[in-house]
Amino acid sequence: MKIIDLIKEGKPSISFEVFPPKKDSGFSSIEKAIREIADLKPGFMSVTYGAGGGTDKYTLDIAEEIERDFGVPTIAHVTCVSSTKETVLERIRDLKEGGIQNVMALRGDLTEEIKGNLDNRELVHAVQLVRLLRQSQGDFCIGGACYPEVHPESPNQKTDLKYIKEKVDAGCDFLTTQMFFDNNLLYNFLYKLREIGVTVPVIPGIMPITKGNQVDRAIRLSGSHMPQRFKALVDKFGDDPDAMKQAGIAYATDQIIDLFANGINYVHVYTMNDPSVAKGIKDNLSAIIGKDF
Ligand code: FAD
Repeated sequence: MKIIDLIKEGKPSISFEVFPPKKDSGFSSIEKAIREIADLKPGFMSVTYGAGGGTDKYTLDIAEEIERDFGVPTIAHVTCVSSTKETVLERIRDLKEGGIQNVMALRGDLTEEIKGNLDNRELVHAVQLVRLLRQSQGDFCIGGACYPEVHPESPNQKTDLKYIKEKVDAGCDFLTTQMFFDNNLLYNFLYKLREIGVTVPVIPGIMPITKGNQVDRAIRLSGSHMPQRFKALVDKFGDDPDAMKQAGIAYATDQIIDLFANGINYVHVYTMNDPSVAKGIKDNLSAIIGKDF
């Protein structure tokens, strides 16, 4: 099923992101966690590509397994900056043959090696991957990434918004956001997107911070602003794993309920492959998800 059609159903729903294992030895424990998350029957699941420490090699296998064994629609992430055009075209063929209908088209992060050699790269922006996917006749539903607090490499928000529009005009059916901890930033961002004519659905990405030591990494990777309310929570509970987990799930739930209450129907949850976090969030929303309001 295409994600754009799920979004159009218009009922409050959540989706979960998982990442593939790093190397063969870690496969079975991660596969078990991913299966437990799929068994919670989210609206859909995204499987990252080489992100979060996982390797690219399992993305397609895991996406196929989730659809086949759990009937949960999936979106396979693909990045392009570290690959040649030929490799990316091969990957697109594999996705088509694997029956994947949804693809998240991403550039990927720039390693020092890639940065030093950017001029020789064939694909340097996600928009090029979106165009390749559209030309491939795979009839994919395509997602793209966006950043309510501006992509870290962008000189300013106006420039970032211009390139988001270019990506959507090239063929993205919807956008998913980077994590954020203050919903007002999202509402402000949505307003600006609509103002420049970007009208595709935007799925907010919510990251439940359930461990004190996740905070620094999350800020470093996303550049997200931490509201005082969130800082106070980490200060108070960060050293107590059980308390921090409960507080982090509650904070993320609160963000999601506020998003639903303000007219957003789909929210993507970055689960970090932790079934108990995914379950905690889903249980907290049990009387809301799937209903007509
Ligand atoms: P782009 O859209 O190419 O944007 C990157 C930067 O270039 C931005 O600053 C943008 O303003 C600028 N730009 C865009 N187009 C142009 C242009 N034509 N000319 C000049 N500048 C331009 N990483 C992974 O490795 N694997 C994953 O699975 C993964 N999943 C993700 C999922 C989500 C929802 C998000 C938000 C991020 C994900 N990432 C993943 C991280 C992502 O790869 C990085 O954030 C990366 O730095 C940017 O990717 P992008 O697709 O947004 O790139």
